[in-house]
Amino acid sequence: MIINSKSFLSLAEKIIAGGAPDIKEYRAIASVPDKDVFYLLAGADVLRNASFGRRIHFCTICNGKSGICTEDCAFCSQSKVSKSEVPVYPLLQKEKLQKGALYAADTPINKYSIVTSGRGLSKSELANVASAISELDQKALDYCVSLGILDPDGFRVLKKAGVTRYHHNLETSKSHFRNICTTHTYEERVKTLRAAKKAGLSVCAGGIFGIGETYKQVLELALTLKELDVDAIPINFLTPIKGTPLEKANNLTPLRCLKIIALFRYVLPEKEIIICGGRENNLRHLHPMVFYAGASGIMTGNYLTAKGRSLQDDIEMLEELKLRIRQ
Ligand code: SF4
Repeated sequence: MIINSKSFLSLAEKIIAGGAPDIKEYRAIASVPDKDVFYLLAGADVLRNASFGRRIHFCTICNGKSGICTEDCAFCSQSKVSKSEVPVYPLLQKEKLQKGALYAADTPINKYSIVTSGRGLSKSELANVASAISELDQKALDYCVSLGILDPDGFRVLKKAGVTRYHHNLETSKSHFRNICTTHTYEERVKTLRAAKKAGLSVCAGGIFGIGETYKQVLELALTLKELDVDAIPINFLTPIKGTPLEKANNLTPLRCLKIIALFRYVLPEKEIIICGGRENNLRHLHPMVFYAGASGIMTGNYLTAKGRSLQDDIEMLEELKLRIRQ
């Protein structure tokens, strides 16, 4: 494949017309050198525009339970092997779980998610989250949760309470996962996603990049998510945290981040691609370019254990880009 804007625009047009790139074309995208990354953006922008127009999705999260994790995910400041200082608290009381939703309901944010640390929740914790969601105004916002590994009964409880989407990242490709986590398997994560889908929930699953994966493995993850037919893909970029096994990792550059986003847009042209943790730290001056690389959404506000940008800053950024918030 020739590496220029025209060839990637043609590829995007082929995808919009219903054609699927072949594996050689996907590999060509994944191996574009940094200096040519901007060629990818023309087609990625056209693809985002074909599915979402100029409207960008905003979501925000509440860290409902922090620290105390039994798992050993190498990038995570809340893991049992992390020595970093993070807030540690059990599941928040109902009013605190609901507080962020009440705030978000008066803003252009359209999805609110409760995220908890750990492998999964106990039955009583799950019931408390479900009860908190069931009392919220179901018309004001969409409610998502990210509660770890869960069984079909758990999903039924959540659906009944008004949860519409389950978030559960695969984190990385299957071939890289054992280098990142040894306390649970990739298959357990996939099983959770399949169970969420089967229960009728929309599924949000993506990963974190900059954790030692190769471009082949970035593509591998994108193709797995395509096969699983997930609805939304959160993309996180590692901000190395002191005290974690990956505290010295730094193989991301702003252009590499844009390339990862663009690759996901070519592989999953009609799916929501949401840029989450590490957006500002890793993309730096280029972070507004995420939309031209194919992102159709961003997480606004604070992340789990790190500060994010204010909603107002993100609204102003969209105005300057002549994009609009999807409501
Ligand atoms: S990513 Fe989730 S499961 Fe893994 S260590 Fe962090 S909180 Fe625990």
